[in-house]
Amino acid sequence: MNKTMILVVEDDAPVCNLITTTLKTHDYKYLVAHNGESAIMEASSHNPDIILLDLGLPDIDGVEVIKKIRTWSDTPIIVISARSEDSDKIEALDCGADDYLTKPFSIEELLARLRVTQRRLAAIQGEMQKSQAVFTNGNLKIDYAAGCAYLGEAPLHLTPIEYKLLCLMSKNVGKVLTHTYITQKIWGSSWDTDIASLRVFMATLRKKIESQPNSPQYIQTHIGVGYRMMKVE
Ligand code: CA
Repeated sequence: MNKTMILVVEDDAPVCNLITTTLKTHDYKYLVAHNGESAIMEASSHNPDIILLDLGLPDIDGVEVIKKIRTWSDTPIIVISARSEDSDKIEALDCGADDYLTKPFSIEELLARLRVTQRRLAAIQGEMQKSQAVFTNGNLKIDYAAGCAYLGEAPLHLTPIEYKLLCLMSKNVGKVLTHTYITQKIWGSSWDTDIASLRVFMATLRKKIESQPNSPQYIQTHIGVGYRMMKVE
């Protein structure tokens, strides 16, 4: 039995119906809001586990809804955007959204995003209970206190930037981090040259942590958007 409560924010009735029917079939609990104001109200009064948020709403901009909700809540937010709203999607991620779906999307894509987010929730809840000094994901281990990373038993020989990058990704498992967000955290700036450097460091980091750098297991590329560390079983 799936007890996860989803807040669906969508003004487009057919899309909203597709989502709620899918949720119903897969035993999710859900609430619906058709505009930004009611989304904020439902989020504050019902404390959902995950928010599915359409960016193009009739009253307030979806990005504004994220900013409002983020003032009091870390609830994972998956934004839904049209292809023409690519820059809005990136802005939404920079404002604290966790993931995105691009219209038109399939039921399988929707369910996959929900599963990734639920694993992220479980990981966050697990992290809160145990000490955060050591991070493990599949064969990857980071001893934050010692400043060392391992793959299985073997220590990884990372440059300071690669290590910083790996730590940043590990602290956001399941969440898509934008190029701007990552370069701000690593270099404190986000010029095009920083984004180009990021690609280079990501490539060298992957060679060290991925058994097949061309089909990475740990860090996914989101073309034109950023990167995400996946939870590896
Ligand atoms: Ca809409």
